[in-house]
Amino acid sequence: MLLNLFEYHWVEDIDEALLLLARPDVKTIPLAGGTHLLGLDDDSIQAVVDLRDLELAYIHEDAASVHIGAMTTLQSMVDAPLLKELAVGTLARAAQASSFSRVIRNSATLGGTLAIGAASQADVLTVLAALDAEALLRSASRTRIDLSGGTVERPGFALAGVTVKGKQERRVSCVNLSIERRSNELIIEVIIQRPAAGAGMSFQRIGRTPTDIALLNACALVEIDDGVYSCVRLALGGVNMEPVRMHVVERQLAGQTAMNPGGTTLNTQLLVSALQAGMANFQPPADFRASSGYRKISGVNLAFRALEEATSIARWRNMVSSKERQ
Ligand SMILES: Cc1cc2nc3c(=O)[nH]c(=O)nc-3n(C[C@H](O)[C@H](O)[C@H](O)COP(=O)(O)OP(=O)(O)OC[C@H]3O[C@@H](n4cnc5c(N)ncnc54)[C@H](O)[C@@H]3O)c2cc1C
Repeated sequence: MLLNLFEYHWVEDIDEALLLLARPDVKTIPLAGGTHLLGLDDDSIQAVVDLRDLELAYIHEDAASVHIGAMTTLQSMVDAPLLKELAVGTLARAAQASSFSRVIRNSATLGGTLAIGAASQADVLTVLAALDAEALLRSASRTRIDLSGGTVERPGFALAGVTVKGKQERRVSCVNLSIERRSNELIIEVIIQRPAAGAGMSFQRIGRTPTDIALLNACALVEIDDGVYSCVRLALGGVNMEPVRMHVVERQLAGQTAMNPGGTTLNTQLLVSALQAGMANFQPPADFRASSGYRKISGVNLAFRALEEATSIARWRNMVSSKERQ
């Protein structure tokens, strides 16, 4: 319960929301779908700013990237034709897996999920990490200054209590959002650079049941040029875990030949060696659901399956596009 909540603002303008969030004297936070916030036990929150009328619920694309507004619900991400096609549909599937309750998916937004990070237990975070997605953050500041010496135009003409309004915008990688986002920054949208047309992607998860939260999940993106890995991204996440990119595995595979001699079978030994070396320092957290050791061992298997499937898809897509060119 938010027992000390005494202000509710229904704003129609982003600037208005930003100025309310920038107030230093009243602890004000955004209200999106409310699925997390309204169950919170936090007596320090004094005001909420309802974001529903800010027209931040959209999914659109430009030449190079896809933009998903912060107020887009998880269910809209499941249903959007653009996301069914983007990245082999992994983001749409992860949005579905993030919460198997449609009631929650209809309210829970992408912005809210990103803002609470690991606590949301959302599978979308891992897929966004593999896609190298960025969040667009905007904040405002309102500073009162005393120009006792006047201004450049009017020297000597003293102005007291002048209010200066400023607005800042920056992009932050979704993986670092929980560390880098400041409390007065509003998440405006998520920007995903379109993967190359021939890229393969795979999303895998382990849960106690198919509809349970993921004890562990993995997402891999693979691009192959002339049989060689030109780009590999691998992210692991799961319940109570911030998603982590396996940069060592990615570096080990880049530039290596994806197929065995003859080009018909996948070089699985290469994947095993890269995972064994690159995941040696992977230390997932333990909780009542699974031990760290269980997550570490299953993480290697899950990552293998994700890389194997992503490589097969990339190889198949390359074959189809080269046949189309002939
Ligand atoms: C019983 C229950 C179980 C759930 N289980 C799961 C689950 O297993 N997996 C899962 O993914 N989700 C689950 N959810 C939903 C989860 O709460 C949402 O996924 C999401 O994390 C919250 O989104 P929201 O839009 O409802 O955010 P809200 O509850 O409105 O806000 C959450 C936080 O994010 C901040 N915030 C919201 N939007 C922005 C923004 N644009 N910029 C900056 N800060 C912002 C708010 O200030 C608040 O601090 C569950 C919810 C319930 C009620």
